[in-house]
Amino acid sequence: MGSKKLKAVAVRGNQRIGLVDRSEMKETLKWITSTYQDSMKWAVDYGTSGSVQYNHDSGGMAVKNYLKGVLEDVSALSGDEFHQALVVERDTCSGCPVRCKIVVESDEPKIDKPYGGPEYESIGALGSLCEVNDPHAVANANQLCAAYGLDTISTGVTVAFAIECAEHGLLDGRLGDGLALSWGDAEAIVELVRRIARRDGIGDVLADGVKLAAQRIGGGAEAFAMHAGGQELPMHDARYEPALGLAYAVDPTPGRHNTANGGFIDVEALHDVFETEDVSLSGRYAYHQKGVEFALLNRYMQVVNCAGLCMFSLMMGQPPVRGWINTATGWALSLEELLRIGHRVQVLRHAFNLREGLPPGGASLPDRVKGYPPLEKGPLRGVSLDMEAMKQDYFRAMGYDEDGMPTRELLDSLGLTGVADDLQGLRG
Ligand code: SF4
Repeated sequence: MGSKKLKAVAVRGNQRIGLVDRSEMKETLKWITSTYQDSMKWAVDYGTSGSVQYNHDSGGMAVKNYLKGVLEDVSALSGDEFHQALVVERDTCSGCPVRCKIVVESDEPKIDKPYGGPEYESIGALGSLCEVNDPHAVANANQLCAAYGLDTISTGVTVAFAIECAEHGLLDGRLGDGLALSWGDAEAIVELVRRIARRDGIGDVLADGVKLAAQRIGGGAEAFAMHAGGQELPMHDARYEPALGLAYAVDPTPGRHNTANGGFIDVEALHDVFETEDVSLSGRYAYHQKGVEFALLNRYMQVVNCAGLCMFSLMMGQPPVRGWINTATGWALSLEELLRIGHRVQVLRHAFNLREGLPPGGASLPDRVKGYPPLEKGPLRGVSLDMEAMKQDYFRAMGYDEDGMPTRELLDSLGLTGVADDLQGLRG
C-alpha cells in the first residue's frame, strides 16, 4: 500500500453479516444491559470525566509534565463540576448503552456541540499536565484540537513540554515567538494550541510532537519530552500502574494506554485467564511477576481488540468474551485457543517492527516517568520502577530471548515459521 501511496482500502457489499446464533446473542445483550449501570456507574453518570477525581487522588493522573503528583483544585475538572459547567448532552458509539461521551457547549469562550467534549485523556493532557484547572479552557483547547484534527494527548504533552522549555530559558527570543508560557496560564496555552494547529511561528517548531521538537530546540530539551518511541505519553502515570509503564515501553505501538492497558491487570474479567495459567496476582509493585501478568493480559487484549470490543467492556464484571465470539461465529474456541490467537497477534506485531528495523528491546521511558528521581509529595511519593526486571519477566513469558527477540521455537510453535525465516537474518 505504501509504495502505491494508498492510505486505505474501503470495501463495501450488500450482504448482511449474520450471527450464527442470534437468540444466544440476545442473552448477551441482556447481560450487558443488566450489568453496565452498576459496573460502569462513573462512566454512565459523567463519561470518562467521571474518572478524573479518582485517578488524581490515587496518583494515576499525570500532573505538570509528570513532575508533580497533585493538582490544586482538581475538583474543578471532575466529572461533576465539568458537567455543571459545560455538558449539555451525552453521545455514544453505535448501540452502546454506557454513552460515555460528553458534549459541551459554551458562549464564552465559544464552544460548539459538533466537537463533542473532552474525554479523560484530553482533560488530563490539556488540563492537569499543564496545571490548568479551568474546564472552559480545557474544553476550548479540546475544541481546537478536534477542529484541526490534532490528537489531544500529543498536543497537551507538547504544550507541557513547551512550558517546561520556556521555564528553562530554551524558548527565549525568536524561538519563543512573543508568547510567554507558564504553568496554569490557560489563555497562553489555548493560544499555543492554535499556533501548533496552524504551524504558526513556535507552533511550527512543535507541530511534529515532542521528540522532533526537542531535537530542533536542543539545549537539553529532550529531558522535558515525555514520549516513548516518539509517541507522547498518555495521562495514566506509570508510577501508579507499573504494568502500564511496561506496556508503554514494550508494546509494538509504544506509549499508548489502550493497546494493552496494563492497568487492567486486576479487573475481574481477567480472573479466568490468570486461573487458566495458574498465575496469582502479585501486587502493584512486585516487579518479578509483573511481566508474566502483563503477557497474559496482553494476549487476551489482542483478542478483545481484534474482536472490535470496547476496552471498557472488561470493566463490566466478567464479560463472557469467549462466549460472544463463539456465539457470533459458531466456533467453539477454548480459553487456551483464544490466548494462543492473542499470542500470535502480539508476536506478529512485534515481528513487523523488527523486520522494519526497530529495536527488539522496545522503547525507553523518560527518567521522571519511571520515578528517577522519585516524587517527593502525593500518593506516589518515593516510587521508582524497576523497568528492567519487568521487561525481562515479560520477554520470558512471551517466549522472547533476553534482548526481546522472539525465539525460533516460539515462532514455530505458533505456526509462524515463515516469520521465523524472515527474522533469521536479524539474529546476531
Ligand atoms: S462503546 Fe465504549 S467508548 Fe463507546 S460509548 Fe460505549 S463505553 Fe464509551
